[in-house]
Formats: sequence, C-alpha cells, structure tokens
Amino acid sequence: MSQTGQTIIRSGSKPSIKGSDAWFTGAVRIDNLFQLPEPARAGGGIVTFEPGARTHWHTHPLGQALIVLTGVGWTQCEGGPRTEIRAGDIVSCGCGKRHWHGAAQTTAMSHMAIAETLDGKNVEWMEPVTDEQYLQGVLVTD
Ligand code: MN
Repeated sequence: MSQTGQTIIRSGSKPSIKGSDAWFTGAVRIDNLFQLPEPARAGGGIVTFEPGARTHWHTHPLGQALIVLTGVGWTQCEGGPRTEIRAGDIVSCGCGKRHWHGAAQTTAMSHMAIAETLDGKNVEWMEPVTDEQYLQGVLVTD
C-alpha cells in the first residue's frame, strides 16, 4: 500500500492465465486476476471465452457479479432457462446456486467476474456442462 492509501496493480504486471480444463470447457483466458487485501473479501478477474467455451457447473458461497465487457454469452442457473447476456449487462448469481456462464455458440464473450471469499473459497467447481446441456432448452434473449 502506498502512502496515498491506494495500490495500483499495473496492467501487464501479471501474465494471462489459460483457463484450466478442470474448471472450463473450450478456450478460456483469465486476465487481471486480483484479490483485495483483508478485511475486504472481494476478488475477481476478466474472463474471456472463445465461441462455445464455458465454465463447468459451480457455486459461489457468497454469490457473484458478472459484468459483461464484450460480445454475447449465455448463462444458466440449474433448473432455469439458458439466458443470453450482452456487453454492458450485469448478472447477479445467487449464493450457493448451481450455474454456468460462457460464450454463445458462435460468438466470443468476456466478463469481469467479482466474488467474495468465505472460509478461503469463492467458488466450488463441479462437473463440466455437457454439449447437450449447453445447447438444450429455450434461449431467453430479453
Ligand atoms: Mn459463477
């Protein structure tokens, strides 16, 4: 922390990270990963999904905010509709709700993801979203 009370994490100070196959399907890149110092709980990063790429099913203990930065993507809470998300949209994922998010089938998408940590974790990763799950059901676009 500087004398001014602010810390600037400079763009380019950390390398881009390839999204792990343990957490994602398809080509995913993570940039600008950050975690605010305690007592703050918030952390996040910019996640870029190539067309067809998406997270595995997962939950967040304290929920998550997704701010869509570019492109068109899809997100779904288990049992709910597959919903289109576009640049400028803000998605609030409920605490403990199983869900996934990613690009649309033919369009890339990037979002800033912000989540708070509880007991050292801000996400619980689960099984992959199958191609059938990714494409099934009505797509809600409004
Ligand atoms: Mn999530």
